[in-house]
This record gives sequence, C-alpha cells and structure tokens, in this order.
Amino acid sequence: MKTIVVIGTAWGDEGKGKITDFLAAKADVVARFQGGNNAGHTVIVDGKHHLFQLLPSGVVNSGTINLLTNGMVIDPKGILEEIDDLGKKDLNLFISNRAHVVMPYHLAIESANERRKGENRLNTTGHGIGPTYSDKANRIGLRMDQFVGPNFKKQLEGIINLKNLEADKLGIPHFDVDEIYEEYKEYAKRLRPHVIDTSLFLNEAIAEGKKVLFEGAQGVMLCIENGTYPFVTSSSPTAAAVPLYAGIAPWLLEGAVGVVKAYATREGAGPMPTLIPDDKIQAHFHKTKVEYEPRTKTYRRVGWLDTVILRHAKRVSGLSYLAVTVLDILSGLDELKICTSYNLNGEVIDYVPADIKEYEKATPNFITLPGWKEDISHVKSFSELPVNAQKYLEKIEELVGVEIGIFSVGPSREQTIQVKDFF
Ligand code: GDP
Repeated sequence: MKTIVVIGTAWGDEGKGKITDFLAAKADVVARFQGGNNAGHTVIVDGKHHLFQLLPSGVVNSGTINLLTNGMVIDPKGILEEIDDLGKKDLNLFISNRAHVVMPYHLAIESANERRKGENRLNTTGHGIGPTYSDKANRIGLRMDQFVGPNFKKQLEGIINLKNLEADKLGIPHFDVDEIYEEYKEYAKRLRPHVIDTSLFLNEAIAEGKKVLFEGAQGVMLCIENGTYPFVTSSSPTAAAVPLYAGIAPWLLEGAVGVVKAYATREGAGPMPTLIPDDKIQAHFHKTKVEYEPRTKTYRRVGWLDTVILRHAKRVSGLSYLAVTVLDILSGLDELKICTSYNLNGEVIDYVPADIKEYEKATPNFITLPGWKEDISHVKSFSELPVNAQKYLEKIEELVGVEIGIFSVGPSREQTIQVKDFF
C-alpha cells in the first residue's frame, strides 16, 4: 500500500504517536488531516524531547514533506512555538489554504462555555478547537488563505463584531481588534510561505507514486459522527474522513492501520463498559506510569480490551491492519479478559448504542485467557513471545476479523515489531 492512514481505534492514547513515527520513516509525505493542538505526543530527536501537537511526525526525518490539510484547525501561535522548539532549518512543512485558524476569541469562548455548563462540562482541552469548528460550520470562520492574505484586518473586524455579541451573552470582556491584529499579523507573516493548496499537492504526489502516510489524532470513539456523542471531539478521526479532510478521492486511500491498545483506557468523562472494578488490577496498570496523564495529573481509567468497539471501528472507519501496542504492560497478570459483546435491556448486542444513556447501561460479556509472567520488552519477533501472549494476539485477530500488522512491547522504535510488510 502506498497511501495509508494511522488511526486510533478507541478513545485516543492508543500509542498512535509511536506507530506513526515508525511508519513515517518510510513515507515521502506525512499529513495530519483533522483536529488541532488538542492531541499530542512526545518525539525524541537527538536526545531532546519535543511535544508535537500540530506538527506531523515526519518533521523529524529530513526529506519528508509534512502537510496539515484542510480538515485541520490551526493555532498560529501554537504551531510557531513547535517550529521554534524543533529549531530545524530544512523544515518541509505546508499548511492548507483551506484549514481554519484558531484565534484567541475561540479559547476565551470555550472556557466561558465550559464554566457555564458546570457539571455537564465536556472537559475539553481548552485549546479553542470546538469553537473553531463551530465557526467553520456557521460560515464565520477564518481560513488560512484569509489569515495570510492582504484583507486579514478587514475580515477580523467583521468577525470580532460578531464575537463581541457572543461575549456579551457569556458575560466576558470584549475582544479588541487592534490588539489581536498587531499580535497575529506577525504570525501570519511567518506562516505565509508555508500556506499552499495541499489537495493539489497530495493529488500530484499520489499520481507520482509517492508514499503518503496520513496521521490521525484522537480515536474512532471520539469521532463526532460515530463516537460516544456528546463526549467526542469536533472532527472525525476515521479513515473514512481522510478523503474529505485532505481533498483526495476516497479510492486513493489504500488502507488503514488501526492502533489498538492491548487493553482499554479512557481519559475524561463518558461511559466505559469494560472498566476494571478491581483496585488491585488498576494498580498493576498504574504502577507502570504509561497511564499517567501529565496534562490532568491523573491516571486514565483502565478496562479490559473491548472488541465490540474494535468491530465498531472496523465498520465505521475501515481497518486493513491492527497495530497492537503496550502488550508488555500485560505481563504479570494471572488472567486477561476480552469483551466479546454487551448485554443491554435483556439482549446480547454487538454494537455501540447511539444513545449515551443506553450505552451507560450496557454490561460486558467476557472470555478469559491465561496471562503470562515473562518480561517481553526485549522480544523481536512474534515467535519469541510467550505462547499465552501469542494466543492473546491471535484471539484479537479472530474476534476483530483484521490481521495484526504490528505489535509493540515498549515505548521505543526498536520495540515495535512489524509482522506484515504493508507499507
Ligand atoms: P497517542 O495519543 O495515541 O499518540 O499515544 P501516545 O503516542 O501518546 O502513547 C501513549 C504512551 O504510551 C506514550 O508514553 C508512549 O511512549 C507509550 N507507548 C506506546 N507504545 C508502547 C508500548 O508498546 N509499550 C509501552 N510500555 N509504552 C508504549
């Protein structure tokens, strides 16, 4: 396959960053297609840690072209900070002229809205992503071409007039056009050389037979269309969304790699049927630190692997291969459970209910597999895995009906084992 996408199959934090980095090394072009700086992963370059929230993983490889396509929302200040932090001279980065711009009023409106919702707040990341996508749908958004164009100030004046009406309703201070313009015109100047029609670029690259890797953020269960609404993100992180958000024909995308954590985790609010109630088992996961979320200073909720969700991801997104991560963290558990279906209102079901209240009532049906004790973090091939770990992976393949292309046994690139050569 020459054009593939890497997506998260559940609620994010599946380890997409690592799988994308691994595959990006083979790509000519790496493109982010949705979301903004509401996700992120750490990449180590020459021993230095960099947090990428907007920059595609390909920026660490010289020669790779990196794109942010039309489906994205981009915080100019945020991306310039990332560019400066990376400090790379030969940065091949291009931003779609159709991508929307995150402005300071989006951040202020988001935090006022979350405060207003009180107990019903969504615990968003507070980066203004939701309000930017709302403005896009309301046809009052600011696009990159306008932002870096000669009429930026005039456009900003029109938008700020509307935003100040919103500020009145929310009881927050008015936004000042001149103040915002003076700061943001400098960002526009720096970003101008990076702004192009990324759809034209991608179509040409694909026609020339270049290898293109699309990099998803979040996960399918956070998809605005097919996720656990309203506890979702503002865009669609599915393979199905790539053509739309990147401006290519659907049939030009040849495959999707679904990143699956070997167990389930969920950060923030919302139902999670396979949540493990046993504190001792939660403690097993917490002691590894992998599930610690520095942003919120909390541990993610941990559950058993949920194949209802994986089949949901396969249906609504399409999955060609699975990449199973953090298998090493399961070492030491006596037994492992895998959820095969849910019970809901006296019926056994194999789908994710659309109604969040119904989903909260769903209880899991499990199968139990024996665990393994060995440390597997040094393993280099499938056959080196303990038999029970092999059986666990084979069971996942069988239950989801998708082959495993990659599995991973630790955070570094060398601990990523590609078992099928698909890219
Ligand atoms: P993303 O949000 O899906 O991109 O997930 P991240 O890339 O942030 O990964 C979450 C965490 O898991 C990071 O700290 C990774 O270094 C770590 N990680 C990824 N794969 C593995 C693995 O196979 N084993 C272990 N122990 N950690 C992993």
